[in-house]
Amino acid sequence: DLLADWPATVGRLTKVFPKEYKNALAKMADAKAPPPVRESPAAVGGGALDVEELRPNSVAAPQKKRGFHEYSRKAMSYRPDRDRTLDWEEIYATPAKKSQQWHNLLKTQTARCMDCGTPTCHSPNQGGGGCPLGNRIPTWNQLVHEGEWKRALERLLDTNNFPEFTGTTCPAPCEEACVLGINESPVAIKSTELAIIEYGFTKGWITPQPPQARTNKRVVIIGSGPAGLAAAQQLNRAGHVVQVLERADRGGGLLMYGIPSMKLAKTEKVQRRLKLLEGEGISFKYNIEVGRDVTLAALCAQNDAVICATGATQWRDMRGTEGRHLRNIVQAMDFLTATQKATLDAETGMGPAKSSQPYELQGRNVVVIGGGDTAVDCVATAVRLGARSVLQFSRRDEAPKQRPAHTPWPCWADTYRVDYAHSEVKAMHGRDPREYLVTTKSFKASVEDPARVGAVIATRQGEGNAVTEYPAELVILAMGFTGPDKAVDPESLVPRESNSAFKAAYGEYQAEGSPWKNLFACGDCRKGASLVVTAIAEGRDCAARVDTFLMGDTSLPRAAPLAANPTFYQMPDPGVDQGNLVKRFNRRKVKSGVFAVSDAFERGLLV
Ligand SMILES: Cc1cc2nc3c(=O)[nH]c(=O)nc-3n(C[C@H](O)[C@H](O)[C@H](O)COP(=O)(O)OP(=O)(O)OC[C@H]3O[C@@H](n4cnc5c(N)ncnc54)[C@H](O)[C@@H]3O)c2cc1C
Ligand code: SF4
Repeated sequence: DLLADWPATVGRLTKVFPKEYKNALAKMADAKAPPPVRESPAAVGGGALDVEELRPNSVAAPQKKRGFHEYSRKAMSYRPDRDRTLDWEEIYATPAKKSQQWHNLLKTQTARCMDCGTPTCHSPNQGGGGCPLGNRIPTWNQLVHEGEWKRALERLLDTNNFPEFTGTTCPAPCEEACVLGINESPVAIKSTELAIIEYGFTKGWITPQPPQARTNKRVVIIGSGPAGLAAAQQLNRAGHVVQVLERADRGGGLLMYGIPSMKLAKTEKVQRRLKLLEGEGISFKYNIEVGRDVTLAALCAQNDAVICATGATQWRDMRGTEGRHLRNIVQAMDFLTATQKATLDAETGMGPAKSSQPYELQGRNVVVIGGGDTAVDCVATAVRLGARSVLQFSRRDEAPKQRPAHTPWPCWADTYRVDYAHSEVKAMHGRDPREYLVTTKSFKASVEDPARVGAVIATRQGEGNAVTEYPAELVILAMGFTGPDKAVDPESLVPRESNSAFKAAYGEYQAEGSPWKNLFACGDCRKGASLVVTAIAEGRDCAARVDTFLMGDTSLPRAAPLAANPTFYQMPDPGVDQGNLVKRFNRRKVKSGVFAVSDAFERGLLV
C-alpha cells in the first residue's frame, strides 16, 4: 500500500540519522580530506591562504568584547620566500615607519586576547608551553589595545631584558599555551612583543639606565650569550661592578654567531643592545678565553662572584663513521659562524670583500645531517650561498600534522612544521629539503678529488639494508649539542650532570661540588641546549641568586618560579605514545613519568 502512493508516503516519513552513523561519516570525510598543515608564519608569508582571512584582522575601532570571535589572527608578515634568499637581511617584513593601519592592526590583534582568569600563556607549564619569563602577556595586550604603548613597554621590560631577541627568534611557547588556541588560532603574542619593543626604540624610550649607586662588589660573567647578558644587566642594576669575558671577537653568543642574520639582525638588534649595556656601565672584554688566557681559579679568587654562562657548545660528531676524515664534512657551528663572520666583517669594513665567503657553494650539492633548528639554519644559509640542491636528513619520522595525544594543550605541540628554510628551498628547488627516517652509513670520496667528500651513503628505515647514494660536495653535521665544552674548565674541577651540563640546581645556580663557593652557572651550560627565552630567564634568576649571595638579600625579581606556578601542568602518565617518545629521546631523563621542562622544549625544537 505504501508503495502504491509513494510520493504521499515520503511526505509522512521522518528521516532518522543515528549519531554514530553521522560521526562515522564525518570521520570518513576527515580521513579523505588532506589534514591541515601547521605552517610557520614564514611559510604563510610565502603564499598559503588562511580560511580565517574571511574575518577582518584589522579594523579602525576594534572592540575587545568578543574580539576573539570577531577578528582573525594576523601575525608578523614575512618577505616572499624567493626574495628572502637574495640577501642576508631578516626574513620579516617589519615596517620601519608605522602608519595608522599598523596601529589599527595591533589594536585589533590585541583585542583578540580574552584576558583569561588563568592566563596559561603567561607562565611556563611542564609540557613546555607558556612563557618561561613569566611575561605579563594579557596586561600588555590590554595596554596596546588601549594605545598605551609606553606603559605596555614598561610591563614588558618588567620581565624580559631583551624582548627584541625573543620577539624575533622565539618559537613562542606562549602561543602554544594560549587558551584561544584550543579551537582557534592563538593570539599573535610574539608579534605584539616585537611591536612594543621596536616602537619603544623608534620613540627613543629605550636609553641606558645606569644604577644610581655602586656596591663595589665585583662580578665576572663568562660568556656573552643571552644568559650572560641578562645576568649582567640585572647585577649591574643592583649596583655591582660587572665585567663580561667573551672568547669570540663580538658579543652576543649564539645571538651573534649561531642564529643567522636572516633570523636576527646583528647590527640593528644585537649590537644595538650591546651598546646600551656598555652605556649602563657593564664592561666587555672580547677575545679572552677563560681556561686559556685566565683560569677559573684566578677569576674566583679576584672577584666576589663568577658566573659561568658559556653555553652548550660541545657538538655531536660522527667519529668512527667510514669516510668522516674526508674534506668538506664540516660542523654546523663552524659553517654558520664562518659565514656570519664573513658577512659581518664585510659589512663593517673589518674584513675582506663580501664576495669572499669561506664556503663557495655555487652549483654544489649540500647535505645537512640533523633534524633540529641548527640544521634548518644551515639549510637557509646554504641556499643563500647558491647551492644547487640542499637535503636535510632526519632520523626521526615526519611529525604528525595534528596535535598528538602526548602533547595536549597547553603543552608545546610535537607537530609537523614548515620552517622558513623549508619553504625557501621549496620555492627555489621545487621540493621540501627534508628526508625522514634516514641513517647515514658512510661518506664516499669524490671521484675528481679523493680527499674530498663526493656522496653520502644512507639507509632508510623500513627499506632493509638497501642503501642510497646522495651526491654531496659539502656535508654539514648538525646533530645537536651535549653540554659546555672543556675550555673553561680544562681540569674538570666543576662537576657535571650525566648530560654533561654543569651541576648547579635550578633556582640555586651555585656550581655544586666545585672548589669555589662563589662560582655560579646558568643558561645552556647548566640546563643543556635550549632557547633564547629560557637563557634570559636563567640569567635573570641567577642574578637574583648571586645578589642574595653578595648582599644577604635581593630586590631583583626571580624568573617565573615553576613550583609556585598556578598553571603548573603535569604531563599525563606515560602511555603508549609517551613510550615512543621516551625511545626517541632516550638520552633524556624521565622521572616518575614526568618530563623535565627542558625535555619538552627540545621535543619541539631540537637544537
Ligand atoms: C644555530 C642555532 C640556532 C638557534 N636558533 C634559535 C632560535 O631561533 N630561537 C631560540 O629561542 N633559540 C635558538 N637557539 C638556541 C639559543 O641560541 C641558545 O639556547 C641560547 O643562545 C643559549 O644562551 P647562553 O647564553 O646559555 O649560551 P650561548 O648563546 O651559547 O653563549 C655562550 C657564550 O660563551 C662563550 N664562551 C664559551 N666558553 C668560553 C670561555 N671559556 N671563555 C670565554 N667565553 C666563552 C661563547 O663564545 C658564547 O659566546 C639556536 C641555537 C643554535 C646553535
Ligand atoms: S591565554 Fe591567550 S587569550 Fe588568554 S590571556 Fe593569554 S594571550 Fe590572552
